[in-house]
Order: sequence, then structure tokens, then C-alpha cells
Amino acid sequence: EAGSVGFIGLGTMGREMALNLVRAGHRVRGYDVRAEAVADLAAHGAAAAANPAEAARDADIVVTMLPDTPHVETVVYGEAGLLRAPPRGRLVVDMSTISPVAVRRMHADLRAEGIDLLDAPVSGGPAGARNAALTIMAGGDAAAFARAEPFLRAMGTTITHVGAAGAGQAVKLCNQLICGINIQAVCEALALARASGVDLDQLRQVLLGGSAASWMLDKLGPAMIAGDVAAGFRIDLMLKDLRLVLEQAGALDVPLPATALVTSQYIEARAHGEGRNGNQALFRVYDRMTGR
Ligand code: NAD
Repeated sequence: EAGSVGFIGLGTMGREMALNLVRAGHRVRGYDVRAEAVADLAAHGAAAAANPAEAARDADIVVTMLPDTPHVETVVYGEAGLLRAPPRGRLVVDMSTISPVAVRRMHADLRAEGIDLLDAPVSGGPAGARNAALTIMAGGDAAAFARAEPFLRAMGTTITHVGAAGAGQAVKLCNQLICGINIQAVCEALALARASGVDLDQLRQVLLGGSAASWMLDKLGPAMIAGDVAAGFRIDLMLKDLRLVLEQAGALDVPLPATALVTSQYIEARAHGEGRNGNQALFRVYDRMTGR
């Protein structure tokens, strides 16, 4: 059954997710601080909003897909924000990757006003967003999840309620930990293969057939080998995620030595101006380390 959705944050991921809600028959009203992103969505069957309150006004549900914790807090607590101007359906689903501590605080503040918040971060990258094939991990109240699920179905294929507020982010941080270490592993293998004089495309094909196969080798390997650094999933966003992982681990006394090592590689990449490049640009750290 079609509903109405306010969608806030129309970037690499949000644009595609909002378009899939439109395709599924929902009425979508989009907002982004970049006016051109709003105009682009409006040219594809959605309505335009000038602020979060306007996107929310007639909506059953508001979805946010923003870079980091402070952006979500601005949209929730800001002047034309969702705390003061909630959606008609009093349901907010944040699909960004942000701090689980901040999620729990916003969940409580919204709950006090009778508004439900789910944290429902995603995995699958821009292609997963485009193909409505995201993996979605949701934290929050079960009744709120049940109301959100029909809308989430328009954006993803594997959709799971993983626990109370913040649990979605806790699961997503585990996902990012594995992705980060895995990217590092692929970079190290490619660096060794290159120095050994092995053909890298063939190496990738061979490894994809065996026990070293991985999403990163499959999806990011070609761009790493070709030196194509266009985002995708940006280095600065992954660095944000790795810092969230280390914050969570620090608070819980869990040692994560491999994550700490990978984080320093990302810091190196960003210091060399790679922040806005895609994650495959992590391989450039090896260009610099090996002088190739
Ligand atoms: P992005 O930077 O491309 O998009 C974010 C959008 O939010 C931009 O269009 C920006 O203008 C807008 N924005 C910023 N502040 C705003 C505000 N206050 N109000 C309204 N709009 C605002 O980022 P992305 O790659 O789409 O990622 C979004 C989130 O999803 C991040 O938390 C990221 O970590 C996560 N994520 C990204 C990927 C990926 O592959 N790109 C995959 C999974 C999860």
C-alpha cells in the first residue's frame, strides 16, 4: 500500500533510495542542503521541500540518509527540525551510519514527544542502493519496525530487526570493521602481486574462485587495479566509521588491533588528499609506501 515519505539527504545513497521509494508508488518529498539535489529528485517524480519540517509535514514516515552524527542531530534538533515538526505518522528512520550513543539519546528525546526513531543503517554500496538490494539492520521498538518495514522493502532485500535503539548501528559497525580490514587485505595482496610481476586482473579472477574471494576483491578490485578513484563510498566516510568502531570498542574495553592499524592507513590516505575519493583509493597508500 502506497504511503508518503519525507526523505532527507539526497547524496550518493539517498538519491537512489528515494527514487526506489518513488518507483514503489510512494509519494516522496525530498530535502537536502544542496538545492540541486532536491531539483534532481523533483525531476524524477518526487516533490521538493525547503527544510526538514516541510519534508515531514504530510509524511507517514521520514527517512534520513546523512553523512555523520552532527548532520542527523541538526535535522532532529534544528529550528525546522523533526523534534519540533515531526512527520504526521510520528516515525523517523535514520539510515545513516552514526554514533550508537547519539542514536539512543535521540531515541529518548523523540520518544518523550511521542515520536518513534529507528536506526536502520545499510550495507551494499551505491549499487545496492540503486538496485533496491540493500541489507538493512534496524534497531528500535518492534512496533515501529513493523510500521517501517513496508517502506524499507522498497530499498532493500535483507531487512532485519536486530534489537533495541542503537543495535542497528552496533551491527553496522561490525560490518564496517570487516569491510575495512578486508580492503586492507586486498591492498596488501595486490601490492605483493604487483611487486612479484603477476598480472593483477588475472590474480583477481583466480582468487575470486577460491577461499580468498570477497566483496571487496570483487567490487573494488577492478577500480584499485585500474587506478580509478571516483567515489562510491568515500574515504572520509569510512574513516568516520572506523572511528565510531574504535570509540565503541574503547568504551567496552574490546581490543581491536587490526581495526586500529587499518584506521591509520585511512588517516594517511586522507592526509594525502584522498578524503573525497572512493575506498579503492586505499591502494594508493601502497603506491606511496612502495614508491610505485
Ligand atoms: P553523501 O555525502 O553522498 O550524501 C549525504 C547527503 O546529505 C548530501 O547530499 C548532503 O548534501 C546532505 N546533507 C548534509 N547535511 C545535511 C543537512 N543538515 N540536511 C539535509 N541534507 C544534508 O553520503 P552517502 O555516500 O550517501 O552516505 C550517507 C550515509 O550512508 C553515511 O552515513 C554513510 O556512511 C552511509 N553509507 C554509505 C555507503 C556508500 O557506499 N556510499 C554505503 C553504506 C552506508
